[in-house]
Amino acid sequence: MSIKSLIGGLGIGLALVLQPVTGSARDGDQIADLFDIFEPSDEQAIGKQQHGRILQQYGGEYKKEGLNEYVLDIVLRIVAVTEKRNEPWNVTVLNSPMVNAFALPGGYVYVTRGLLAMANNEAEVAGVLAHEVGHVIARHGVERQSRATGMGLLGAIAGILTQSADVARLGQTVGGLFLADYSRDQEYEADSLGVKYLGLAGYPREAMADFLLRLEAHSKYSAKLAGKEGSSGQYDFFATHPQTEDRVDRARALAKQQADELQRSYGTKRYLENIDQMLFGDDIREGVIRGRDFLHPDLRLTFKAPKGFQLINSTRAVFAKDRSGNQMIFDMDPRGLQGLSPGQYMSRMWLSKVKHAPPQSILVGGAQGARTHFIVSNNNRKTYITAVVVNFGYEKVARFIYKSRTRTQELEDRYAESYFSFRPLGYEEASKIKPVGLEIRTARSGEDLEDLMDGMVEAKYPEDLFLLLNPAFKNREIKSGQKYKLPVIMDNAD
Ligand SMILES: [Zn+2]
Repeated sequence: MSIKSLIGGLGIGLALVLQPVTGSARDGDQIADLFDIFEPSDEQAIGKQQHGRILQQYGGEYKKEGLNEYVLDIVLRIVAVTEKRNEPWNVTVLNSPMVNAFALPGGYVYVTRGLLAMANNEAEVAGVLAHEVGHVIARHGVERQSRATGMGLLGAIAGILTQSADVARLGQTVGGLFLADYSRDQEYEADSLGVKYLGLAGYPREAMADFLLRLEAHSKYSAKLAGKEGSSGQYDFFATHPQTEDRVDRARALAKQQADELQRSYGTKRYLENIDQMLFGDDIREGVIRGRDFLHPDLRLTFKAPKGFQLINSTRAVFAKDRSGNQMIFDMDPRGLQGLSPGQYMSRMWLSKVKHAPPQSILVGGAQGARTHFIVSNNNRKTYITAVVVNFGYEKVARFIYKSRTRTQELEDRYAESYFSFRPLGYEEASKIKPVGLEIRTARSGEDLEDLMDGMVEAKYPEDLFLLLNPAFKNREIKSGQKYKLPVIMDNAD
């Protein structure tokens, strides 16, 4: 969440939907009708409409001298060997620590800086980009769009509750996030197109399978961080591009089948030069996620997500979800309390359009707050909402929404632990949060793994993180002159 988001600003797209409506069980249906009218049908328009939402959800565009042109070059090199070489392509590096890449209809291709950090070389980056180009060319996203529309309704309802187009748009994209976006067959097809394009574009075809292994390693590392070691969790990339037992083997076999005598370069040196000094992990200007804790050093606030929830930061709000589909949304209302008490603010401003229980006053770490509950029905499906506001001082107001399919005391207790954990972040604590960047270093003879890790940023599992970024060192054999990536504190960051 950025400071900019507090200043607000109405967005495109769903703003259309947010004409005054009466708070009733029919809201969902009305919105559904509006979606049918306004969802664009041609591919270019779908991509264009979703582009802004993607940027907001993934921290905006990440810009670093040379890097954006470099990634664009790779995509264009791949596109040049496809039947859509003459169509417009729009390539964006997203400012997100998540490890993901995706594409929208109409030639919109996205890759996070988090994913770029995981590669060993340019060919692997090309592999995942070729996979995404494959999705576009096989028109997988068009089918996905029609499914995603239905899922966006919950978010649109949240938007009506909050009367904020921003939250509506976020809910919409987060709706998409909860889908297992592509089918397994679509994944196989995109992999197979990817291998083909890699070969035609002059890259080693094996890079596709190599990078799937890199993503698998990242998924395992994420599972370990989440305390679920050994589980086959599908994190980040695999949450939207389903992994299967045989995906790597299939990609490997395809590369073998198509093998030829051409000399192909992995582009390791070029890749490392271009990612040197790239931001790694959270962009602290948007707030950072540490397990269940969200900390924002600029806004000077912190809170915990409910137990079992995974936090997702975006430019406009902070989200969390659990495996049962329960969700949390946190944001700060740029309008402020406007002289009202938290309870009055709730009834007169925030939730004025919905029927809710009279707000209950609460104290959150000494700050005045209010809490209420209500139910939203959509197609006979009930959603239970707990809404909380906290006066953050100087008229600033913090808002929490917790959405569940069922209402249980156990869930309410988890939610209460979350909103009661909200507090200002002290200066000391805030100043300790510093940006981390990837530095490309060169190994010298006689060094061991510990020497290479000297100066690395603190991590829960330092060696795991180092080997995740530098799998070439797994066998502990270190050659003089060998390059490696080291996440270090960037002191002179702007
Ligand atoms: Zn895919």
